[in-house]
Amino acid sequence: MKRTHACGELRTEHIGQTVTLCGWVSSTRDHGGLTFVDLRDREGIAQLVFDPSLEKVHAVAKRLRAEYVVAATGEVAARPQDAVNPNLPTGEVEVRVKELELLNPAKTPPFEIADAHKVDESVRLRYRYLDLRSPRMQRNLRVRHEMTRATREFLEARGFIEVETPLLIRSTPEGARDYIVPARVRPGAFYALPQSPQLLKQLLMASGIEKYYQMARCLRDEDQRADRQPEFTQIDIEMSFVDQEDVLALAEELTKYVFARGGRELPGPFTRLTYREAMETYGSDRPDLRLDLRFVSLDEVFAGTGFRGFSQVLADGGMIKGLRVPGAATLSRKELDELISMAQRAGAKGLAWFQVGPEEMKSPIAKFLSAEELTGLRKAAGAEAGDLVLVVADKFPAACEALGRVRLHLGRKLGLVDETKWCGALVTDFPLFEWNEEEKQIQPMHHPFSSPFPEDIPLLDTDPLKVRGALYDVVLNGVEIASGSIRIHRREVQEKVLSIIRMPEEEAERRFGFLLEAFQYGAPPHGGIAFGFDRMVAMACGEESIRDVLAFPKNAAGVDVMMGAPAEVSQEQLDELFISLNLPEKEDDERASG
Ligand code: ASP
Repeated sequence: MKRTHACGELRTEHIGQTVTLCGWVSSTRDHGGLTFVDLRDREGIAQLVFDPSLEKVHAVAKRLRAEYVVAATGEVAARPQDAVNPNLPTGEVEVRVKELELLNPAKTPPFEIADAHKVDESVRLRYRYLDLRSPRMQRNLRVRHEMTRATREFLEARGFIEVETPLLIRSTPEGARDYIVPARVRPGAFYALPQSPQLLKQLLMASGIEKYYQMARCLRDEDQRADRQPEFTQIDIEMSFVDQEDVLALAEELTKYVFARGGRELPGPFTRLTYREAMETYGSDRPDLRLDLRFVSLDEVFAGTGFRGFSQVLADGGMIKGLRVPGAATLSRKELDELISMAQRAGAKGLAWFQVGPEEMKSPIAKFLSAEELTGLRKAAGAEAGDLVLVVADKFPAACEALGRVRLHLGRKLGLVDETKWCGALVTDFPLFEWNEEEKQIQPMHHPFSSPFPEDIPLLDTDPLKVRGALYDVVLNGVEIASGSIRIHRREVQEKVLSIIRMPEEEAERRFGFLLEAFQYGAPPHGGIAFGFDRMVAMACGEESIRDVLAFPKNAAGVDVMMGAPAEVSQEQLDELFISLNLPEKEDDERASG
């Protein structure tokens, strides 16, 4: 029995036709002698009706349970007026079944498919194939598919060629830990799985491909905090003979095109911000512009202050930033204390608050400030009675980051983020390097292949932390959805940058010798960008977690609870690789139970 129609496509125009549907039993009920079955396939739900006068068919229908798989043939008929379901696209019709074939019975599922999202995620992941039957997950995978298609369409129309790059490679430096794969052919040696195709796409530019893209799988062995997956998909792009503006224009257009296909129209043009502007105005290099709260500089207001907490910071080259939070004067002491510790955790020494009254400014530090300073603060912040003004005095970027953290927290807590909005931004002019306080080391802001601004090259020798790089991010609603750069394409500049991050020459040669060499054979100037595709799809679908837009994700601990991965391998497999395990005893158990 072959299907003639999908369940979800039946409409009044089909009335009178004999159709065959295949699908899963969603629910059954008996009513006035008739048996009703909701049959579900990926297109939707159709109502089947069984008349007891057709005894044999009716007897089979009575045995149907949720998730049984059946094929049913019958005539499409109009539902009686009082049985029309306006909430269902097929709600005006039903199929009066004459033949029914049970294709496969089903065990009672551990949860009801329609309500899968209400079930604990561990259960959904354990029975992912059932979870994926739910309309919500079916929709998410379709949106993903559409957005993938849109990406290919968009890039191919602009002359990009999709090139697949290998998964078994040598380590790539995106700053995460590599997944490694033992190589049987060379005992003791390991492949690394790509953290991204970064080096390979640059080599493709040296290869004369000129415009490359790939829906690239990236693998990073990071601690599974927040909403990360050990493997994820990037829209990976690289172009020759371009400058930053070319890549950014393409990136903005691509973002809009792909989101439109995901059902979201992004209003343009995206806001342009330099890293410094983003940090100094919003306290983040991926500002959420749906929240219309901006910092003001208070350096001038407190230029001559007698309050040492502020004057010392200014004397040391720091800055004083203020943030007005409308209507937040009512926050309790406890809530204010929480804000202070939040700012401190973000690296600031402290946070001062001012509750704005009709005349006065209430604050634990008000007594240290002159009346003029208090009025100046009130004016600079644009504060009105009932507002809260928060002030941080510290070095850049700590002052901004701390206040930025508080800004986002309060914005969400007080419902000031306009969730109906889509706010895109292009952030540029990042520093090429940053200081890693833990390791007391200078490190690349992004990865070591980004090009310094040509005019900043002399600073590489004198003040590398001041060097700006041709790095850029695409930010949407406070999420960094893409990141890229114009690359270095000359060996001597690349060597210089590697030496600044303290990579000894031999190590540079060993790890990236092939790239340095390629630069010497006429590598064109090039640049690119990579989009976090899973996150884009999740945003378009309105899902919090990227797990909800992946067919078979790992759980938050990096475990595939359905397949049971990671898992032990046999002694023979280990022997073939000359690997012997040296596990701490406790962990052995943990691994086994996942
Ligand atoms: N490879 C970079 C990343 O994965 C993106 C890029 O620079 O194109 O973040």
